[in-house]
Amino acid sequence: MEYGIQQVLPWLDRDEIDRVAGTIEAKWLTEGPCCREFLERLKGITGSGYAVFAPNGTLGLFLALLALDLPRGSEIIIPSFTFYASASSAVFAGLRPVFADVDPDTYNLDPDGIERLITPRTKAIMPVHVYGHACDMDRVMAIARAHDLRVVEDAAQAFGVRFRGTHAGTFGDVGVISFFADKTITTGEGAVVLTQDEGLHKRLLLLRNQGRPNSGTFLHPALGMNFRITDMQAAVGLSQLGKFEEIRRRKAENHERYRSRLGDAGDLRFMKVQPGSDFVPFRFCVRTEAKDRLQAALEAAGVQTRSFFYPMHLQPMLREYAAGPLPVAERLYETGTCLPIHPFLTEGDIDRIAETIRGVFRA
Ligand SMILES: *Cc1c(COP(=O)(O)O)cnc(C)c1O
Repeated sequence: MEYGIQQVLPWLDRDEIDRVAGTIEAKWLTEGPCCREFLERLKGITGSGYAVFAPNGTLGLFLALLALDLPRGSEIIIPSFTFYASASSAVFAGLRPVFADVDPDTYNLDPDGIERLITPRTKAIMPVHVYGHACDMDRVMAIARAHDLRVVEDAAQAFGVRFRGTHAGTFGDVGVISFFADKTITTGEGAVVLTQDEGLHKRLLLLRNQGRPNSGTFLHPALGMNFRITDMQAAVGLSQLGKFEEIRRRKAENHERYRSRLGDAGDLRFMKVQPGSDFVPFRFCVRTEAKDRLQAALEAAGVQTRSFFYPMHLQPMLREYAAGPLPVAERLYETGTCLPIHPFLTEGDIDRIAETIRGVFRA
């Protein structure tokens, strides 16, 4: 179906086209000068000591988990309310996900629920920073330190998000930011894997480059694969960095506009931003008992809606790791809808969406 208002719309213009054309004219297709520049810029923005690219966020998480070299079958605590890749990457890396519930206001990992899930087999935690703000990383890191657990941050949605001044993805041993087409800035596909640890960086480099320190040799001292990206993607990424502040400003403005139009509508409830965290709105998130009617009305009005995540512990392929109900994650799915907040929404679009929603509650 063609939507009048799409859920996401990346901001791409002549600048991306010219920069991609430049890499093709320079005959750099694989990792080259744009990759080097984009990586240095990302390290500067995030304050990460080291960084490597991965083909996408999913493979970035997989690479990060491989680099930790945890014993096969180790348990890793992962919020149930996340995108599937947080959990599938752990299973592919030979780990057992243990699903945790989340906070009903922030939708992020609930620190109060973590410690009771820790067993002698627990080796890691994967906090996921969802919908544009960070987990309470003071508490997550304190628990990790107290129990000697590694921390892998899924910061796929958290480009530009800082918690008490530190960028999401740089608290733990390793963190991953995605540049998929629906993320804050995009390279189409792509991701960056961040670490402050020199040893982990060395392992990431070997794992992503066929188990060798340098390309062009056929001696492979370690086991590795190919996780390269292309210079064309990095060219797009460099252009996107120039747009980030304006993307953030427009999304924040749209967020405010929604709140002022919808503050008192029906039983609508809104996400609360984690104290101490920046907010780079990812979607406009609303919860209501009338989720199905709300989505139907919006779809009929040509507005593309998305449900919240379907909990990991209920996923057909992950059910074997489930250890009972996780009521908050389940309630979020039952009630939650993501509304578009992309930089090209107009004031009229938001008024129309808000009026449609108000109509649902009048009916
Ligand atoms: C998008 C996303 C991923 C996966 O990133 P891709 O680049 O799409 O593979 C992982 N975790 C979360 C929370 C995401 O939103």
